[in-house]
Amino acid sequence: MNILDENITYLKGVGPQKANILASELGIKTYGDLISHYPYRYLDRSKFYRISELSPDTQLVQVKGVITHIEVVGQQRKQRLVAVLSDGFNTVDLVWFKGVSWLKGQVKKGEEYVIFGKPTFFNGRLNFTHPEIEPAVKFQNKAEAKLQGLYNTTEKMKTKFINSKAIYNMQVNLLAIVKGKIRETLTVAVLEQYKLMKLGDALQNIHMPQSPELLQKAQFRLKFEELFYIQLKILRLKYHRAEQYEGFNFSQVGELFNSFYKQHIPFDLTGAQKRVLREIRHDCNTGKQMNRLLQGDVGSGKTLVALMTMLLALDNGYQACIMAPTEILANQHYKSITEMLYPLGVQVALLTGSTTAKNRRELHEGLQSGYIKILIGTHALIEDKVQFHNLGMVVIDEQHRFGVAQRARLYNKNHRPPHVLVMTATPIPRTLAMTLYGDLEVSVIDELPPGRKPIQTLHYRDSARLRVFGFLKKELAKGRQVYIVYPLIKESEALDYKDLEDGLESISRAFPAPDYAISVVHGKMKPAEKDKAMALFVNKQTNIMVATTVIEVGVNVPNASVMVIESAERFGLSQLHQLRGRVGRGAEQSYCILMTGNKLSKDGLTRIETMVKSTDGFEISEVDLKLRGPGDLEGTQQSGIPLNLKIANLGTDSQILQFARNVASDVLKKDPKLQSVDYAALGIELKRRWRYEVDWSQIS
Ligand code: ADP
Ligand code: MG
Repeated sequence: MNILDENITYLKGVGPQKANILASELGIKTYGDLISHYPYRYLDRSKFYRISELSPDTQLVQVKGVITHIEVVGQQRKQRLVAVLSDGFNTVDLVWFKGVSWLKGQVKKGEEYVIFGKPTFFNGRLNFTHPEIEPAVKFQNKAEAKLQGLYNTTEKMKTKFINSKAIYNMQVNLLAIVKGKIRETLTVAVLEQYKLMKLGDALQNIHMPQSPELLQKAQFRLKFEELFYIQLKILRLKYHRAEQYEGFNFSQVGELFNSFYKQHIPFDLTGAQKRVLREIRHDCNTGKQMNRLLQGDVGSGKTLVALMTMLLALDNGYQACIMAPTEILANQHYKSITEMLYPLGVQVALLTGSTTAKNRRELHEGLQSGYIKILIGTHALIEDKVQFHNLGMVVIDEQHRFGVAQRARLYNKNHRPPHVLVMTATPIPRTLAMTLYGDLEVSVIDELPPGRKPIQTLHYRDSARLRVFGFLKKELAKGRQVYIVYPLIKESEALDYKDLEDGLESISRAFPAPDYAISVVHGKMKPAEKDKAMALFVNKQTNIMVATTVIEVGVNVPNASVMVIESAERFGLSQLHQLRGRVGRGAEQSYCILMTGNKLSKDGLTRIETMVKSTDGFEISEVDLKLRGPGDLEGTQQSGIPLNLKIANLGTDSQILQFARNVASDVLKKDPKLQSVDYAALGIELKRRWRYEVDWSQIS
């Protein structure tokens, strides 16, 4: 048995009661769980603060000083112990509400102590509530590591005396027991070639660092290991797929592609669009299945690339489909694609939740006979009943709305998996792309069609509403259209709806009929009603669109030049960026106006400032990742990839991630099946780590 699988209950310093709390609060049950509960920060125990240096913003610190006063205050149950500590220059109050009588006997006036805690402001004075306290003599005699780990705990743990220090003590006891018995998880070949610290040493140094240098090596090793096994998993899947599946060979660029390109596009493709199309054509002609991610900011012209990719499939005798995340979007794709393809006489069909049973039957037949060449739809398209004659190309628009499992069901629509092009308008940081889409090739459209003016983004407080309305009137007078968007948060749909209703009332008053016409779209409407309201706006019959975020993705109205986002502080960065992308699609100067209340949280302000400063989706996504962490970014939950990493941070560890990916790739090149002496153990460890996860080879 692996010693790290041992139960923690009988570890010195734990015991049954604390074991229960550790399990329920942090999921810590085994030695392995405990030892991988790493410090979130390190305290330099050789450094003492002066009291004059303290402020309410100060984090956990140490102060050395003499107790000049100590007394018990209050009656009976409400007793507290109050002491004053002096460092020779200034004094600070210490307060304890618990363990009063015991502490009273321990802490002596006139003696020197080291206290440790976080100062807070109370009644105009700084104080420490429940600081750790230790006689200075005893402190100096201890042969403790200079850098002491600080550990996350919960409120409940603290009330049961499991504070950071207690966890530290448990780690000390645990390390003593497991010393020399920890099973290495990387092979000697990997450790030596890449000069990595051994696991046992890394665990020792992560909890009780002997020096800053050793701590850094330990952190590197543990982060590496965590990222390495994810990359090994992803890259293995990729190699495996390349080996196992043959792909359709699209050997020719034919009639449809060429005549569309030469005669039916009203503009030149951008350099980036051309490059991506070349990459796709290359992929589809290798004999392997294409799995490619197309990243491009909103408005960069991905739809056209998708369309031409589908034509490529048709030219080679295959069917193609495109799957969109919402009905509005599917309809819009259907409309623009049928229009563009009209001169070519290609059979295009639409399948969404609203398609009637009768139409469905016809559609199923048309797909099976091969009469219908292109199918456009929502996820209704992946239902098992939908069978194709020979599906050769699948385009998935706005991938982040689809999980890995849904993607996989499309792969199974054929005896041979079709080529897959995944498109996303939510730029994701490189590190996240490498992880979430690490099995895909990546193409980027990094160039907007010519003639677009960068959108100007402005931030106004609610108090400036009249000025904003005045500005909108000017734009409307020029014949432009305006979006006004309200937040919609799932937990309180009713409340948000009220926001929208109240807003609508004041907007109707400020923009009265018949001078102005307003469309309204929100999540409570039936799809048909939504489409009707959208259509009025698209056809310029209305000039103001008041909506919740249902319009977020993909809607295209080039004449709309202003996007007003109400309560902008309640939106996430990627959402704000998506919304802003609804304007700036025509040749006119466009504006995005972020309305917020007067009070903003620190993160809220950072989000707004980032939007005002930058229009670069990738830059914005990097900030988003740093603010929220990968687990909370949109679309990552259903990804099937564990992003709640224990030590590595996708926001800041991009170099280690790249290194881990390179090493994984090297290893697989040398030994794809992980069977050699040097690498076989990696395969075993890989299996162990993913034993609770779904088997990816089944789903993608
Ligand atoms: P997205 O990448 O957000 O899906 P779209 O494909 O909807 O972007 O394109 C946005 C707009 O840009 C559309 O109106 C489209 O017709 C137009 N467009 C696409 N490519 C070009 C180009 N090369 N030159 C000019 N306009 C283009
Ligand atoms: Mg699009």
